[in-house]
Amino acid sequence: MIYVEFTALCSYFEQLEKTAKRLELIAIIQELLSQTPTEELEPVIYMVLGQLGPKYDEPNLGIAERMAIEALRNAAGVSSKKANEVLNQVGDLGEAARILLSKERSSSLEMFLGGDSSVYSAKLSVRQVWNRLLDIALLTGEGSAKMKIRSLTKLLVDLDPIGAKYVMRLVMGKMRLGVADMTVVEAIARAYLGDKELKPIVEQAYFKRSDLAEIAIMAKEQGVEALKSVRVEPGRPVQCMAAQRLSDPEEILEKLGGSCQVEYKYDGLRFQYHLDKNGHARLWSRRQEDLTPMFPDVINALKNALGNAPIIVEGEIVAYDYEKDRIIEFQTLMQRRRKYGIEAKLEEIPSKSFLFDILYVDGKDVTSLSLPKRRELLARHCSCSKKTELSTSEIVSNVDDFNEFFDQAIDANCEGIMAKDISTKSVYEAGARGWLWIKYKADYRSELADTFDLVVVGAWFGRGRRGGYYGTLLMAAYDPESDTFPTFCKLGSGLNDEDLEYLKTELEKLRVPDKPKNVSSELEPDIWVEPKLVMEIVATEITQSPIHMVTDEDGNRLALRFPRFTGRYRDDKDPYDITTVQEIRELKKLRIQNRD
Ligand code: ATP
Repeated sequence: MIYVEFTALCSYFEQLEKTAKRLELIAIIQELLSQTPTEELEPVIYMVLGQLGPKYDEPNLGIAERMAIEALRNAAGVSSKKANEVLNQVGDLGEAARILLSKERSSSLEMFLGGDSSVYSAKLSVRQVWNRLLDIALLTGEGSAKMKIRSLTKLLVDLDPIGAKYVMRLVMGKMRLGVADMTVVEAIARAYLGDKELKPIVEQAYFKRSDLAEIAIMAKEQGVEALKSVRVEPGRPVQCMAAQRLSDPEEILEKLGGSCQVEYKYDGLRFQYHLDKNGHARLWSRRQEDLTPMFPDVINALKNALGNAPIIVEGEIVAYDYEKDRIIEFQTLMQRRRKYGIEAKLEEIPSKSFLFDILYVDGKDVTSLSLPKRRELLARHCSCSKKTELSTSEIVSNVDDFNEFFDQAIDANCEGIMAKDISTKSVYEAGARGWLWIKYKADYRSELADTFDLVVVGAWFGRGRRGGYYGTLLMAAYDPESDTFPTFCKLGSGLNDEDLEYLKTELEKLRVPDKPKNVSSELEPDIWVEPKLVMEIVATEITQSPIHMVTDEDGNRLALRFPRFTGRYRDDKDPYDITTVQEIRELKKLRIQNRD
């Protein structure tokens, strides 16, 4: 039977919540998709992912936790004391909503609703619930907080307790189903193309458009051929191409067929700039956060350099000292990543962008052209200026030239170089971390250390000087095969007072009552958090340790030795973008080779 009611969708949420096994999650979503009429697919896909829209354009509900609690109190007709009591007991607003709304609703609710009892029996469809949430996002300006609370209250009243539980979680951004984009991608291939082997086609289409709802509808209604012909389009962020790493120039050259294009690896913020056909310019980070409001100077400079025709280019923003003609360190640029006081920082921290790729120009998707052809197009379409330049690059075919270019890059305050394939197969691979780009950083030349981007999954309360803060964090890597976050180290070193303050607030927002089901851990921290906050860690070695859950190919458990926070929060990275178990295995091999 085809369902459309939100409560029916919630029974799938309940099934999803009960399992952490990837294949079971896929099977449940496959079944859900096969039961979903096309008109309801859009909200269903977003909600399964715990979102209200595509990541790059997700509506902001503007509901703080205290507002959600107030709505729940109104809907359940209970005192603030009672609401907090239940909330403290279960530690999750969704569960608290289910419990409080399961009890008989009191007369204060009727008072709140002005005696209108018709709403009790509403049977909302998935789309109706979605629309009502989107309406809440549209409420802005004076008095909007009150209106938001009122709308949420009404919505909670119109739902059964299970429906209210999931709406509450959606509103708080803590759906906790543990469903990753790639899980849904596979479910789409199975449900609509009838074959999991076709997953790469769904994946490619998704990487180019970044909207899984659109891809699901296309797969269902038009099938494989339509997905194959998906092209990138200005106005829709494309998933960024990523690089592999190697620590030996000779091996890099060999891997890239004897010669390659080397470019400075700027230590800044990666961006994708889009100018769409309506003349609308936008700047996205690699995790598709909208950077447009933060960097008006970059947008202006790019508009001047690239003209008025639709285009997509990629590059790196750095902070720049124009007097000394030098790149300024990354930490300074990070002060530009702010919601308020943007204007004041524009002058204080001038920026510069270095472009290194082009994805769309002259009305065409150019991602399937080779890198030399794309570079030529980029050079032709960019009128370089003081504020916008192309990345410094060169073609090299021997180790001496490679090393010389690397030294130049370090002198220019870059963190290393990117070596890129220049053969006919050197296309722009959206969303892939393949061997067409290889990074080579200063770190790799010393025995010192590699950096790892790990996600916080838990924390322990601090003692002594760190009393009242989280003193130690539990950090995990990502395993795409099992779609889990296995723990890899505990982290206490490198956290300064500012970090402790920051972590206190951020981790409180991400706190969940028990271990997220996609986290693999044998340790029991004082608190668990949703895997969202990504931090860069430096360490001396990868060692064997029975405590953590990352393993090598032989099943030996691995951990980081002497991990230390570098001071860099990778908020440009999604948790699914962090260091993977496979990368850790590669690195471990590299280290052993280097030592021998
Ligand atoms: P890292 O933490 O080493 O920066 P990463 O995981 O963020 O790596 P990778 O894809 O492994 O990202 O490395 C490429 C990154 O290097 C890009 O995301 C981009 O931000 C940056 N970069 C700087 N200069 C260049 C360049 N010339 N070409 C491509 N990427 C560059």
